Amino acid sequence: MPMSAQPAYKRILVKLSGEALMGEMDYGISPDVMSRLAQEIKEVIDLGVQVAVVVGGGNIFRGEGLARAGMDRVTGDQMGMLATVINALAIQDAVERIGLSARVQSAIRINEVCEDYIRRRAVRHLEHGRVVVFAAGTGNPFFTTDSAAALRAIEVNVDLLLKATKVDGVYTADPHKDPTARRYDVLTYDEALDRRLGVMDQTALVLCRDHKINLRVYDMFRAGALMRIVTGDTSIGTLVKV
Ligand code: UDP
Repeated sequence: MPMSAQPAYKRILVKLSGEALMGEMDYGISPDVMSRLAQEIKEVIDLGVQVAVVVGGGNIFRGEGLARAGMDRVTGDQMGMLATVINALAIQDAVERIGLSARVQSAIRINEVCEDYIRRRAVRHLEHGRVVVFAAGTGNPFFTTDSAAALRAIEVNVDLLLKATKVDGVYTADPHKDPTARRYDVLTYDEALDRRLGVMDQTALVLCRDHKINLRVYDMFRAGALMRIVTGDTSIGTLVKV
């Protein structure tokens, strides 16, 4: 990191999918991914950026998959939300192990293991340099953690929402299947919605659009990408804006 590096954003929210936490594994949480992730977060916290995280649960349970297997959908979604709490606790542990302070806040009450989501308290933690990990999505079935990320980003008023994925941005088609797929540098929310580009689900995109949140989609496995983004490098991933 150059000595002159200055943050381009004061407060960011990173949306991590549960699947991203698996790394090369088929299920669960990869310790390697966790420690790399924690280190990347530490670098930007050390720069003075406030960092919130919303984590998914797809590495453990998804309500939709459970419902396909015959389970009641609401129960499945509740299991999915609890899966995000497990992931959030793992992130809290990983960042605290390298000397940061963190708080998990859950949208469903589970006080023995973490705080409830209280917006003003979350903002206070962020102001004190603590990593706030929002768990249990929105707290409601039939929603996703992408929508939770959009909602929390708006509520705690972040300067940038980041969606950390396994690909380095938004493509015209799936780059793993279509060799002619092209990466967008910049995209509007309306284009993403009209073309059904699968950046995030439609509810999340509409929330971000209506509340004018800028979103950058980037490859979380590219070393140093988070740092480059927060110091203003616009060549990383895809920017989605109003
Ligand atoms: N979920 C939910 N309400 C929410 C957020 C999540 O019911 O507000 C449930 C839903 O079953 C979902 C699961 O939690 O499938 C895990 O979240 P998600 O699929 O968004 O995780 P990701 O794909 O990011 O790993």
